[in-house]
Amino acid sequence: MNFEQLGLIEPLLKALQKEGYTHPTPIQAQSIPLVLKGQDLLGLAQTGTGKTAAFVLPILQRLVENHYESKGYRHIRALILTPTRELASQIGDSIAAYGKHTGLKHEVIFGGVSQHTQTIALRYGTDILVATPGRLLDLMNQDYIHLDYLEHFVLDEADRMLDMGFIHDVKKIVRELPQEKQTLLFSATMPAQIAELTRNLLRNPAKVEV
Ligand code: AMP
Repeated sequence: MNFEQLGLIEPLLKALQKEGYTHPTPIQAQSIPLVLKGQDLLGLAQTGTGKTAAFVLPILQRLVENHYESKGYRHIRALILTPTRELASQIGDSIAAYGKHTGLKHEVIFGGVSQHTQTIALRYGTDILVATPGRLLDLMNQDYIHLDYLEHFVLDEADRMLDMGFIHDVKKIVRELPQEKQTLLFSATMPAQIAELTRNLLRNPAKVEV
């Protein structure tokens, strides 16, 4: 099995070649075709399994394939929520690497730093937003972020969101998202509160476990 057989398009294959990835990891081999089909997904996987590429690659492809004339301004079409600044930065770096031939734009926002540069960057619009929950909610409440055009939502490390006390913020954010969207939820473990969130959030999800 290689990345081409999973159905990925040339701009992504070229980037993966540059990264030196020859074969998909098990979570990538299982997830990529399902996400490309538009399925909701529950991924039981930890960091280190290649799960970032498992959601970033097919989402980039769907954004490219469903491209519409944005007339210069970009709406947020994909939101990736992750618990920590480090994870947010790493996901941002992965999007930059895998998406460099796609023409898509991404921004990363997290707390603990001044919001000024983040709000300036957001003013020009972005296709993909990577965010930690607290800062995202802050900026949504200040009207800097609108998610009405969202097509893809990823909740990364859901169990850590719970451990770190972010679950309430996550639920508030989820309530503001459009109904019609593709949702992917990744978690290493499935405590009761995450199982409940999964039931409320995902529609007929495919389950992938590594
Ligand atoms: P993650 O689990 O997403 O944090 O990824 C763990 C590490 O594996 C990262 O450093 C990735 O760059 C790397 N990686 C992801 N997919 C592949 C692949 N198919 N082949 C080789 N390395 C990979």
